[in-house]
Amino acid sequence: MTTIRTRFAPSPTGLLHIGNARAALFNFLFARHHGGQFLLRIEDTDRERSTQQAVDVIFAGLGWMGITPDEEPVFQSTREARHREVALELLEKGLAYKCYCTPEELKQMREDATKNGLPPRYNGLWRDRDPADAPQGAPYAIRIKAPREGEAIIDDLVQGEVRVANVELDDMIILRSDGTPTYQHAVVVDDHDMAITHVIRGDDHLTNTFRQAMIYRAMGWDLPRFGHLPLIHGPDGAKLSKRHGAQSVVEFRDMGYLPEALCNYLLRLGWGHGDAEILSREEQIKLFDIDGVGRAPSRMDYAKLDHINAVWLRQADDVRLSDDVMERLKKVDGVTVDETTRARVLSLMPGLKERARTLVELTENAAFLGRHVPLPMNAKAEKLLTPEGRALLGELARDLAVVDPFNPENIDAALRAFAERGEHKLGQVAQPLRAAVTGSNSSPGIDATLHALGRDETLARIGAVLHG
Ligand code: GLU
Repeated sequence: MTTIRTRFAPSPTGLLHIGNARAALFNFLFARHHGGQFLLRIEDTDRERSTQQAVDVIFAGLGWMGITPDEEPVFQSTREARHREVALELLEKGLAYKCYCTPEELKQMREDATKNGLPPRYNGLWRDRDPADAPQGAPYAIRIKAPREGEAIIDDLVQGEVRVANVELDDMIILRSDGTPTYQHAVVVDDHDMAITHVIRGDDHLTNTFRQAMIYRAMGWDLPRFGHLPLIHGPDGAKLSKRHGAQSVVEFRDMGYLPEALCNYLLRLGWGHGDAEILSREEQIKLFDIDGVGRAPSRMDYAKLDHINAVWLRQADDVRLSDDVMERLKKVDGVTVDETTRARVLSLMPGLKERARTLVELTENAAFLGRHVPLPMNAKAEKLLTPEGRALLGELARDLAVVDPFNPENIDAALRAFAERGEHKLGQVAQPLRAAVTGSNSSPGIDATLHALGRDETLARIGAVLHG
């Protein structure tokens, strides 16, 4: 049996769009599922539009998502000589020909076709013309001889059987007059040389597939199997665009999504396995196959993404989350980002991560740990600090001052004893206390919160509310 080899072939001309990231994920999982290899090819032949920065964004995005190629990435631009070689071979075999049309002639040809109600295609002018007619020394492009009759059929792994009449395809250029390969040609030569068995990509490439198939057939090469994935649409059903919000992998990272959550979500978008919603990478590899991918466009569901992210947040390692939150806190005004804050964040992380859907929310909820007295108070906290609440805080501070060691169990015991003694409900004591030390009305358990702050800071914050 041949080894399954897939590839992700992005053009480094901009962002890593989540539609492309999803294609990368599917290729990766498909190869892993079948014990094959996943490769990366950077399609940088368009020198004008390709940038190093975009290459870096692709590497960083894939690395962040844990989608790593099994071999060194291939840069398409380094393979031009090979692309030329194949074009010349087709020329030699009489399966391609030299076309001497000038840009003006081509323009005229298109205009004439349109005038006659025909699609603006190349009319095969130099296909049958005697090469002796060629203007001496004039530049020429190499065009492939497209079949003129019959139809081409692709048995697509997602779309099913797709047919195109061959008259729809014209003699496309494979090598330009400056000796550079066209996109369609380079893709085929590279996929063949990289021994790619399955091409999984967005269905916006479906028409390219018929053009590319001509080159495979002319060279007598086996065609890979194709699987064209439906695109991702916005919640309203329109193609995902800026107005729907985030589109690139970096944007989702900045919005506080964990890579495993984003991957989990992108996988579930248009692919399912029963009711299973949360799948580890190992489970994804075990269960994924291309036949589970639906044909209908998928719709982004941001609430679902938030839900999946919340689940992954709760399972994530506390040190890792604290490191991330510390980075994000650097951009928050009034917060000191130092070892003290880090220790507090880490200490409270088990409670914090239960209450956030994204790392952005987690950061907002953790910010009070790095603030200084007087703390900014939100309206709900202000409301809790009634004269009665303040009076209680004054008495409570004396009890808290002697809790030793200042750990969650002892703090809890002290609060309960205090409430009991004064015949208060625990909430009547805990809520003004929470307001005083966090500046808000919600936080993880009050015992864990005070413990994370430590006794001195807790008393300083209560003191600032009472005497500030
Ligand atoms: N470079 C193409 C793109 O970024 C993908 C080509 C392919 O997957 O065959 O859209």
